[in-house]
Amino acid sequence: MSIPYARQSISNSDIKEVIKTLKADFITQGPKVKEFEKEVSKYVGAKYAVATNSATSALHASCLALDLKKNDIVWTSAISFVASANCALYCGATVELIDIDLNNYNLSIDNLKDKLSKAKRVGKLPKILIAVHLAGQSCDMREISKLSKKYNFKIIEDASHAIGGKYRSKFIGSCQYSDITVFSFHPVKIITTGEGGMALTNNKKLYKKTQMYISHGITKNKNEFKNKLEGEWYYEQTCLGFNYRMTDIQASLGISQLNSIKKNITRRHKIADTYFRELKDLPIILPYQEKDTYSSFHLFIIRLDVKKINKTHKNVFKSLRNNGINVNLHYIPIFLHPFHNKNVNKLEFSESIKYYNSAISLPMYPSLKNKEIKEVINCLKKIII
Ligand SMILES: *Cc1c(COP(=O)(O)O)cnc(C)c1O
Repeated sequence: MSIPYARQSISNSDIKEVIKTLKADFITQGPKVKEFEKEVSKYVGAKYAVATNSATSALHASCLALDLKKNDIVWTSAISFVASANCALYCGATVELIDIDLNNYNLSIDNLKDKLSKAKRVGKLPKILIAVHLAGQSCDMREISKLSKKYNFKIIEDASHAIGGKYRSKFIGSCQYSDITVFSFHPVKIITTGEGGMALTNNKKLYKKTQMYISHGITKNKNEFKNKLEGEWYYEQTCLGFNYRMTDIQASLGISQLNSIKKNITRRHKIADTYFRELKDLPIILPYQEKDTYSSFHLFIIRLDVKKINKTHKNVFKSLRNNGINVNLHYIPIFLHPFHNKNVNKLEFSESIKYYNSAISLPMYPSLKNKEIKEVINCLKKIII
């Protein structure tokens, strides 16, 4: 038996809701997707929401809605899932990476400021910054928003880890300091729809455009037609869109999952408290929590103080896995992937590399039992002390 680093929690009422939809008139594009969008936007305090079949497609559609084109530039954090960068490449734009802050593992604000002033001098400012809230802890959005006004770029929050988390007392997703926020509902994330994602915004125009891009570029709204209404069958394609839609089956699972999100996040914090308490005397660095943030604790990332341990990072990781603790590493720096490693000066990413050489994600999910948490802690102690 092994303990995974993350897993979904599906209740009997979740299952009942999905079965109800399977028996209903619509299993895609019925009332459930709209209801899910409404529930999530109400929960996080954003005006508009567009449900999608993944966060990756929500990120792509968000870039398109912000008019990202060939030769434009997007910046994102060096430590993220590759989807945070790929969405820019889908649009023909180029991606540049920002080194992380070794305190909170999000993009470094100092590095960002420095890179912006240099980019301004050579006329290579980004059109969009994708701020990733690693592990569910928000970036310093107020600071990023100030910089966006000074240097004139748009902001997408990649909050794939972060539904249920807060920044300055407001839920992540409220878009107070960004143009668009994206959530993921993949089974390892906070709540799930199987595969699924969502883009949230307070801007009606961006909402309409995102909606259009995720459904073939088609509009059924008479007021938006370029030609005259030719008959009751009529609709128009006005741009090149995709089929990135969520189904009603998925949305009914999402609506039901949202009912227990508070319990879910509270349990994650309980588990985090236990890790903090029981691991504080070990030669490891625990995840620092910034005072303006309330993490969703999608991940619990520790870093080994390798100088104080007589085993390598690689060996500790392997021993944990051999003992049935299925730890993970979030993430391989994007620039180390063969596809992404062109023209990158590794000297500019010293913090990301230090992180990569020491980080381990411990098991973290609501159904993790107290007995299992103890097992993780004891196993870690046995290996590194
Ligand atoms: C999971 C994840 C994504 C992609 O989410 P999908 O729903 O699987 O497409 C994007 N960015 C980050 C940071 C993620 O963790």
